[in-house]
Amino acid sequence: MHERGASVRELIAENEALRRQLASLIDQAESNHAIMMRHQAFDLEIVGAASFQELVGTIFRLLPVVSRLDAVTLSLVDTGADIYTVMLKLGVDFEVLPDLLFHESPEELGYDLASGQAPAPRLCPFDARAQRHLFPYPPPGLASVALVPLLRNKRLIGSLNLGSRDPGRFTPVLGTDLVQHMGSIIAICLENVISNEMLKYIGLTDALTGVYNRRYMDRRLVEEIARAQRQAYRISCMYIDVDHFKQVNDTYGHLAGDDVLREVAARIKAELRMSDALGRFGGEEFVALLIDADIGSASLVAQRIRASVADEPVLLPDGQALSVSVSIGVATLDDFERDHAIEGVAQQLVMLADQALYQAKQNGRNQVVASP
Ligand code: GH3
Ligand code: MG
Ligand code: MG
Repeated sequence: MHERGASVRELIAENEALRRQLASLIDQAESNHAIMMRHQAFDLEIVGAASFQELVGTIFRLLPVVSRLDAVTLSLVDTGADIYTVMLKLGVDFEVLPDLLFHESPEELGYDLASGQAPAPRLCPFDARAQRHLFPYPPPGLASVALVPLLRNKRLIGSLNLGSRDPGRFTPVLGTDLVQHMGSIIAICLENVISNEMLKYIGLTDALTGVYNRRYMDRRLVEEIARAQRQAYRISCMYIDVDHFKQVNDTYGHLAGDDVLREVAARIKAELRMSDALGRFGGEEFVALLIDADIGSASLVAQRIRASVADEPVLLPDGQALSVSVSIGVATLDDFERDHAIEGVAQQLVMLADQALYQAKQNGRNQVVASP
């Protein structure tokens, strides 16, 4: 009897221990499930990002929450600053992305690339000195990090850098499946969104000079005029044409002509404000759109452009110095008819500037004429 009582108590104790174990396993499973769901939601969110700004912004906003991290930075390999430059031109605001880092070469990221093998994630203690290129502004108490290489077709395109104040969060003995998965999704999304933005950029710009193309300017003109009408500010337009450009080509060759066009575009650009838009309308003709500028201030800018082209010869790569000049017609829309169709107003503005340009050519070139 007595012995039987003891074995029942043992059974009960064992049963209770098993129940506790089961409850803890269920807890663990539920917590893993919740983590998985959060990560799936994160994956969906970043796969749906339509632009570079949105993708990177979403990663910085959601990943610390989803993965309970104290630091997240993203390093991109950007040789020659191509990505940075294009994103800047497309209007990406880098000020709100302080954790986005650009690196000139893959070697700068610190992975072992010499072995020829694809680099693997590194889970290790945080080392403020050795990892300062990946965490330039580490939060106080950062203790462990996961450095996840971002790979596309075996090419290292960047690194996802995760940090925690918990020293046990990332240690070399832990598995890397989860961070590796995260790294592959982010790498695919990044590559996708970057090539889309590059295509967008190519579609908007003139390959020779890097300024906008005519298609973009036609659209921008309509947008800007609509906004100027709503917000009642003035908008001016400049039509700029290189003088006797055919002679440059005929005398120095087409390549020298191309160099002159690039240099003229750069000099015009240097005199404009960030909010203005400059486009190449064809051959040696440029159109600039000046936001919130009346005919007087637009004419002053045009005079500065004229002087900056005429005052310094253009230096060709072989050392020759060419004297170049431009003629400029300026027109403005101020008290324009509010009920006119915007497309018509845009065309008329460019036409008025073109007519003023014709007058400048007639008057002897290298000069500015404002539309009456
Ligand atoms: P004007 O002072 O009256 O403007 O005379 P112009 O010689 O500048 O004008 P014209 O319109 O006769 O010549 C424009 C030349 O621009 C002719 C064309 O071969 C050249 N051109 C057009 N596109 C390009 C280009 O992309 N590169 C180069 N190098 N030349 C170009
Ligand atoms: Mg011309
Ligand atoms: Mg010309």
